[in-house]
Amino acid sequence: MQHVDNCIFCKIVQRQIPSQLVYEDEEMMAFHDIHPWAPVHFLIIPKAHIASMAQLSTEHTALVGRMMVKVDVLARQEGCRPYPEGGYRLMVNTGQHGGQEVHHLHLHVMGGPRPWSKG
Ligand code: 5GP
Ligand code: ZN
Repeated sequence: MQHVDNCIFCKIVQRQIPSQLVYEDEEMMAFHDIHPWAPVHFLIIPKAHIASMAQLSTEHTALVGRMMVKVDVLARQEGCRPYPEGGYRLMVNTGQHGGQEVHHLHLHVMGGPRPWSKG
């Protein structure tokens, strides 16, 4: 598995930094955001270091597909009410103009009753 030394999410994958785990398998991990915007706010990341959406290529299609398929399952597991009354917001910040701060691909999943502190 490819990790990058100064990447905070690679450190979470390697258990060098603790996280509140939501889900883990051999290729992805989900954990609570340390500064939640919403009652439910967790991140889904690939375990392998991919800097952003901009680095994705066809070799990642199946992995990203499996991450997307996990979103609804994990959102409901974490307390989001089902679609359509409930639901969640899925956000993938990419690059400086996209507001990306951590350069290891991550899907934000945000949900729960409004108002939220942001978003
Ligand atoms: P970005 O702006 O890159 O899309 O979002 C990065 C997110 O990672 C932010 O919402 C931030 O709160 C979260 N984050 C940054 N450092 C840590 C950390 O060490 N642990 C956890 N659980 N979340 C973090
Ligand atoms: Zn990384």
